[in-house]
Amino acid sequence: MDRPTPNVADVFRRYGDTYRDQAGASLSTAQQRVMRAIERCRTAALGGHVEQCDGCGHTRVWYNSCRDRHCPQCQS
Ligand SMILES: [Zn+2]
Repeated sequence: MDRPTPNVADVFRRYGDTYRDQAGASLSTAQQRVMRAIERCRTAALGGHVEQCDGCGHTRVWYNSCRDRHCPQCQS
């Protein structure tokens, strides 16, 4: 069985708080802001919208992106 490949956002969401605690003041405010943006990218934290097919009624949820230029999901 294939396991999904984690991306940067997955790693930040899982270990970001611990890393920031350990790194302390060596992380700049800008670096912390980018980490938070990537963690929230394409999650309910940034809101989103629901699309529905006119034919079959199938719906899907699209979450908004962070649009940070450092985010690999947005600006790759
Ligand atoms: Zn993003």
